[in-house]
Amino acid sequence: MTHSILQSQGAVVRTRFAPSPTGYLHVGGARTALFSWAFARHFGGTFVLRIEDTDLERSTPEAVQAILDGMNWLGLQHDEGPFYQMKRMDRYREVLAQMLEQGSAYHCYCSPEEVEAMRERQREAGDKPRYDGTWRPEAGKLLPPVPTDRKPVIRFKNPLDGEVTWNDVVKGKIAIANRELDDLVIARPDGTPTYNFCVAVDDSDMQITHVIRGDDHVNNTPRQINILNALGATLPFYGHVPMILGTDGQKLSKRRDAVSVMDYLDKGFLPEALLNYLARLGWSHGDDEVFSMDQMIAWFDLTHLSSSAAQFNPEKLAWLNNHYIKLADNQRLADLIRPEMQTLGAQFEGRPELAAVIALFKERVQTTRELAQAAMLFYREAKPDPALCAQHITELAHVALRDFASGCLAVEWSKSAIAGLMKEVLAQHTLKMPQLAMPLRLILTGQLQTPSIDAVIELMGREAVLSRLAQYLPSK
Ligand code: GLU
Repeated sequence: MTHSILQSQGAVVRTRFAPSPTGYLHVGGARTALFSWAFARHFGGTFVLRIEDTDLERSTPEAVQAILDGMNWLGLQHDEGPFYQMKRMDRYREVLAQMLEQGSAYHCYCSPEEVEAMRERQREAGDKPRYDGTWRPEAGKLLPPVPTDRKPVIRFKNPLDGEVTWNDVVKGKIAIANRELDDLVIARPDGTPTYNFCVAVDDSDMQITHVIRGDDHVNNTPRQINILNALGATLPFYGHVPMILGTDGQKLSKRRDAVSVMDYLDKGFLPEALLNYLARLGWSHGDDEVFSMDQMIAWFDLTHLSSSAAQFNPEKLAWLNNHYIKLADNQRLADLIRPEMQTLGAQFEGRPELAAVIALFKERVQTTRELAQAAMLFYREAKPDPALCAQHITELAHVALRDFASGCLAVEWSKSAIAGLMKEVLAQHTLKMPQLAMPLRLILTGQLQTPSIDAVIELMGREAVLSRLAQYLPSK
């Protein structure tokens, strides 16, 4: 396998993530970035970030920022870059000139209409439409006279025979016949280079050793390999990762599925949960489902990448998020949810410490948004519904609540002592737990559902509990 060869030779690993900044960072992109990053880290190599921004109509600075933000949030730090293709135009022109000079590229003066007519004729004849080589220089061939009213494109002189083969790290051996490949346009009439050419030049200049990307690029690979060969460059290894399918087994869709990485931040996911989840989409390490990025780095050597498509499973992601919320430091979670609680109108003054409240809820939430909402219990005015009060705060409850309140004056302020006090009061009045717990919940929090009431009471503090009880208990 490629990796063990590398290891034994102590070779340098250089990977790259090369997004086109045309939207946000989507989960498929984040997953290939994660694989490239983890592989570079595994071998102590270099992870390069390259922004493929040559599509001027679709690339935006906001999309560049969205990619940088997404990578940063996930903690996928690059070691080199970001390199912007638009800033490398001089280099592409230089390589184009070299290729023209060496004869691996040539000027083609066919107009777009002529190329279309050529294709139409081929389609009619039942052939695969392709450039017919009108301007392709060959030994002894006489080229047409150069038109003076037209700027040429530059075409790559693709080999006519043989095949391009590579041993795909994910898909195994792939072979494409050269006759399937056209003489690709590598520069437009205005001299701007085209996509596959730029990628090949960059991968060569940036000395990329392993190209890990989505399998929607498989068709580009033979073209890029031919260009790299023409440049005399060392070929990287290629690994084409199958796409991620949505819950319905179809391609992930913007409309149906949450596909933007930053949406997961908004929805209250922790980056470590999303990373752990993405790692398992198309890669495995035995039966391990839960692992840290340090473990992934230790394990990720491009083996055990699956060649079939992975299906997105929101429940599993939610389960992992709950797992990581449980592990997360309470203070970190507090800092994460405080802004949202502020927008929900939280009053923090004179209320329990947020980190302590988080400890009470973190086991039972799937997202930090849910955590923020749950924690609000302690930070908003409790306004119990009068109808519910009438139902639960009965005459019998009044008496028990009064005794509980006087017990609260002296009881040791701990969860277990408060639970003990509640039990005493219940026994004294031969009541069942809900007959005291429900009125307490309503009065103290305005809700009928809360975590264990003794824990809630402990956190609220003696003074706050007594003052709220006093509001609901008519003086004797
Ligand atoms: N810019 C391409 C994309 O965003 C990726 C190119 C590559 O990885 O080779 O799909």
